[in-house]
Amino acid sequence: MKLEVKDITYSIDSKLIVNGVSLGIKEGDFVGLVGPNGCGKSTLLKNIYKVYRPDSGTVYIDGRNTAEMTSRETAKEMSVMQQENNVEFDMTVYDMVMLGRFAHQKFFHTDKVKERQIVLDAIKEVGLEGYEDRSFLSLSGGEKQRTLVARALVQQAKLIILDEPTNHLDIGYQYQIMNILKKQKLTVFSSIHDLNVASCYCDKVLLMKKGQIVYTGTPEEVFTPDKIRELFGIDTQININPATKKPNIIFLPDLAE
Ligand code: ADP
Ligand code: MG
Repeated sequence: MKLEVKDITYSIDSKLIVNGVSLGIKEGDFVGLVGPNGCGKSTLLKNIYKVYRPDSGTVYIDGRNTAEMTSRETAKEMSVMQQENNVEFDMTVYDMVMLGRFAHQKFFHTDKVKERQIVLDAIKEVGLEGYEDRSFLSLSGGEKQRTLVARALVQQAKLIILDEPTNHLDIGYQYQIMNILKKQKLTVFSSIHDLNVASCYCDKVLLMKKGQIVYTGTPEEVFTPDKIRELFGIDTQININPATKKPNIIFLPDLAE
């Protein structure tokens, strides 16, 4: 088992936001976290990647309790792409991606040529070749997003945690970013906004509602009209996507409402 979360609870201002969540993610699996706005996805992920400390419960990576690991040890095991990235000061795309290397760099014995190549390769991988010297803050939302994916990739951790990585991206880049992630053969745990994107890429999907994981299963098992109505309050028709053979969710809004 790569990632194991045992009975995490977390409150903000004495309001219970994460309510007893347990989950397990196997090595090599691509797992999606799906649920309505405000159900606690980002808060749960922050408890896993140690921005928050759970009120109770434990997170294990390969059997090790993450609360007992240093930030450098944690960074070697999991890389993170957060939802909000409030970058305070500007830097180039190259420097931003290089930040992902911090856990690997030693004070004296860093192979600068190799480090540079890892960073350039990742920038190319996300389609930003030629953007190395551009200022990060001058980028479009989608370009920023792809820069941050590159930063997470160069960290070379086996587990990558992402919080709505395809937000702000047009449809082409949404699928491109997910393809890049899928290709790496990493263990991926990602909150995903778009149900069809989740359906297309995930081996397993966790449906979250009001701080709890209420359903877990393959896209076929969890993306049913009943469950989607329960979570999102909208009717759907589920077809099979001819390209991916995965459930394709068609939304049926009530226009008379
Ligand atoms: P999601 O990512 O699923 O949209 P979040 O985890 O961001 O949900 O938020 C879950 C709930 O916790 C929301 O009601 C949100 O308003 C609340 N919340 C999250 N962070 C804070 C915070 N720093 N202060 C107060 N409330 C917060
Ligand atoms: Mg969120």
